[in-house]
Amino acid sequence: MNIPIFNSKRQYKQIGEAAEKAVCEVMRSGSYILGENTKELEKELANYIGCKYTVGLNSGTDALHLALRALDIGAGDEVITTAFTFVATAETIGIVGARPVFVDINPDTFNIDPDKIEAAITPKTKAIIPVHLYGQPCEMDKIMDIAKRHNLHVIEDCCQAIGSSYKGQKVGTFGDIGCYSFYPTKNLGTMGDGGLITTNSEKLRDRVIALRNHGGAVRYHHDEIGVNSRLDEIQAAILRVKLPYIDEWNKARRERAYIYNDLFAKYDDIKTPVELHDTYCVYHQYTVKVPNRDEIFDKMHEAGIGTMLYYPIPLHLQKVNAYLGQGKGSLPNTEKDTECVMSLPMFPELTREEQETVANTLIKLVEESKVVA
Ligand SMILES: *Cc1c(COP(=O)(O)O)cnc(C)c1O
Repeated sequence: MNIPIFNSKRQYKQIGEAAEKAVCEVMRSGSYILGENTKELEKELANYIGCKYTVGLNSGTDALHLALRALDIGAGDEVITTAFTFVATAETIGIVGARPVFVDINPDTFNIDPDKIEAAITPKTKAIIPVHLYGQPCEMDKIMDIAKRHNLHVIEDCCQAIGSSYKGQKVGTFGDIGCYSFYPTKNLGTMGDGGLITTNSEKLRDRVIALRNHGGAVRYHHDEIGVNSRLDEIQAAILRVKLPYIDEWNKARRERAYIYNDLFAKYDDIKTPVELHDTYCVYHQYTVKVPNRDEIFDKMHEAGIGTMLYYPIPLHLQKVNAYLGQGKGSLPNTEKDTECVMSLPMFPELTREEQETVANTLIKLVEESKVVA
């Protein structure tokens, strides 16, 4: 049996017909960029997430980039973040000319360890970018407290965490700006690229609206250097079809996460995800820690099970970030987890039978690898 890590075809059975209709309507309308669908989606998502404003963009990467620009972060500034994330989190700090400063993770949650943030603050620090990795919210009360005391901005990377909440409040509403991605494999994915920022500040909203369209709020009047990062109407229309299902899909992911937890409960060698108290985790990934990971990862693939390594090389050890001089040994928890994490198939349509096959295969491989070792 081949079991993929993610499968968008099964979801298409549920929403395909409505999405095709919505796309055809956009095509017939003749309005393809910054039209009614984008406008309505921005309102619907502000309502869903619980913030005053959202601005639709071309990608999650652009959301991070334009959030930094809107907060006037640039050359000479430092931004604190995690190295256990997708490259875009730190890449965008570099794009605006600022310097990423990586802080180690809490190995239970894979998220930035708030207790290690203050030691990394310098007079140049301007912002913190917590990443709600795998759909698990960061400890936002601690992070916001540090930010307030040190007068720092907070940009939340919510690209993997739409719908997740901390103490009853959705991610993307704690900091100055939240950044979302609609890349097809995300919990709310479109059929191309898409992204969004959230904010409660009218000023920041207006700034991002200008930056996404060549730095001018009024057509052909340009106040600063911007980019072309508009969410297009076809993607917005598809997202509007899918948004009403997001809670149902997140709930299905959570149920599947707890089924995996039960299936692995007896096996101490397979460490299952830890949920912090008072969080609502949306399991963008279901990630376990296993011994002899590389060998087991190869064998899972040989058995037809689509596992993935998120992320095989932490950002401080990537070539692109070598200039920062944060070498091996500087982030022990991050480096340790990089070597033992493995993400298992996780999507709302995954069947019980498939989960049992995944679990039985993994358990067997872990037991076998122990005998050899
Ligand atoms: C997907 C992702 C991004 C980038 O989003 P794109 O839409 O692919 O540009 C940034 N940060 C994290 C944590 C992500 O998972």
